Amino acid sequence: MKTLIMIDVQNDFMPGGSLAVPGGNLIVPVINRIQSHFDLILATQDWHPVNHKSFASNHFGTKPFDRMVLHGSLQTLWPDHCIQGTTGAELDKNIESDRIAAIFRKGMDPEVDSYSGFYDNNHALSTGLAGYLKEKGANEICFCGLAADICVYYSILDSILEGFFATFIEDASSPLYPEKFDDIKCELAKVGVRFVHSRELLAD
Ligand SMILES: [Zn+2]
Repeated sequence: MKTLIMIDVQNDFMPGGSLAVPGGNLIVPVINRIQSHFDLILATQDWHPVNHKSFASNHFGTKPFDRMVLHGSLQTLWPDHCIQGTTGAELDKNIESDRIAAIFRKGMDPEVDSYSGFYDNNHALSTGLAGYLKEKGANEICFCGLAADICVYYSILDSILEGFFATFIEDASSPLYPEKFDDIKCELAKVGVRFVHSRELLAD
């Protein structure tokens, strides 16, 4: 079962969006091109209520990208993004979505952020993604999407904790902080993540 999970390919993470990832739009045609390689395609969607505590706008005297302690954990405060039902929360309109079998939404609890597609940041609430994948018989999962160094990164780590083999498709993902991304890749390599270019997938 060749499985692809596209993480948060949403308007607010695209250039022009409220939390734009550099080059986010460039991964869209790559993701579309590789879809034919997979048997099962899933997506995640950051899906926040307007009062979400990860938004700087919900904390007096803070600004986006400040950090604060939220319920005992360090939280980066973000610009308002991916608010439920808004255009910014929709998947990019150029992503081919016909073959997306299920979309797992995250970040609905206003009190806790949720970078991973599997669990919230406290590892308390599951989205059900791991159970879904296991029931489908998925073994190795390929990851793409935004942002490579945050939501893709944490999703990959959780997939490994759940016992899956993880592959990161380098040109189908883009980091929010490119200058720090080599360190993230080293961490992923240390836990056994395989790195591929879309070209290699299509050559299989
Ligand atoms: Zn978010």
